[in-house]
Amino acid sequence: MEVEECTSCGRNLDAADTFVIFNCPDCETSIARCDRCKKLSNDYECPECGFEGP
Ligand SMILES: [Zn+2]
Ligand SMILES: [Zn+2]
Repeated sequence: MEVEECTSCGRNLDAADTFVIFNCPDCETSIARCDRCKKLSNDYECPECGFEGP
């Protein structure tokens, strides 16, 4: 599955300069975070299992 939006803020990743994609520690779903959310340490919530993390 390809991630197209930041999981934290919903911003389209095309609009982000840099972003990271990693797997949910619980269910391996792909999670994306844009540079802004990374810098602000915004929380994310896994869309699959609801895992919340910094
Ligand atoms: Zn974001
Ligand atoms: Zn998950």
